[in-house]
Amino acid sequence: MSRGILFVLSGPSGVGKGTVCAALRRKLPELIYSVSATTRAPREGEQDGVNYFFKSRDQFRHMIETDALLEHAEYVGNYYGTPRDFVEKTLSEGKDIILEIEVQGALKVREKFAEGVFIFLMPPSLNELKQRIVGRGTESQATIDHRLSVAVEEMNLLHHYDYAVVNDEIELACNRIDSIITAEHCKRERFLGELFQQLEVANTADNI
Ligand code: 5GP
Repeated sequence: MSRGILFVLSGPSGVGKGTVCAALRRKLPELIYSVSATTRAPREGEQDGVNYFFKSRDQFRHMIETDALLEHAEYVGNYYGTPRDFVEKTLSEGKDIILEIEVQGALKVREKFAEGVFIFLMPPSLNELKQRIVGRGTESQATIDHRLSVAVEEMNLLHHYDYAVVNDEIELACNRIDSIITAEHCKRERFLGELFQQLEVANTADNI
């Protein structure tokens, strides 16, 4: 059985990764979603083990020390990380898995899983990203300016990714990601190993 494919969906903060991923979950229920660990408090309606594994700082530190996380990063004062075992298990069962994580974590995963498929979610324009960050609500001008400069730096990381998907409309972005998944399954490399095996068996049978 061939291994599943690891997909990483990342991009600048404010681009809508969470919303696109939630829509993707509805559209592609057979795709496995990695549930991250975090030290941030649950928001209303969020469930432990469904949206995140909610951890204390000590519990999270223990996960780091025991190498239980594939990657982790600090984001706005909280820790976020990807539990390693679940990713490994899913891939070895031949199933695809998707991680929705911020850019620093995505770069760390890239170092360990060069064969993964890295998708960068883009805003339609920088101006649009600015509107989305400002539109989030009640933050001070200094915080908005900081978030914006971070978002611009994050946009510069696009060249580390395999694909860029513009998040102009959630449904369109989901369709593009669905197409990427299909295309990755059609890569010839995924067939070569199995084909060679079949040819060897055929040759051996001929020789008998
Ligand atoms: P939120 O607190 O809004 O759910 O997530 C904040 C940010 O953390 C988002 O950009 C999200 O993609 C990112 N994030 C969620 N889980 C992980 C994770 O396991 N690792 C990393 N590096 N980032 C994560």
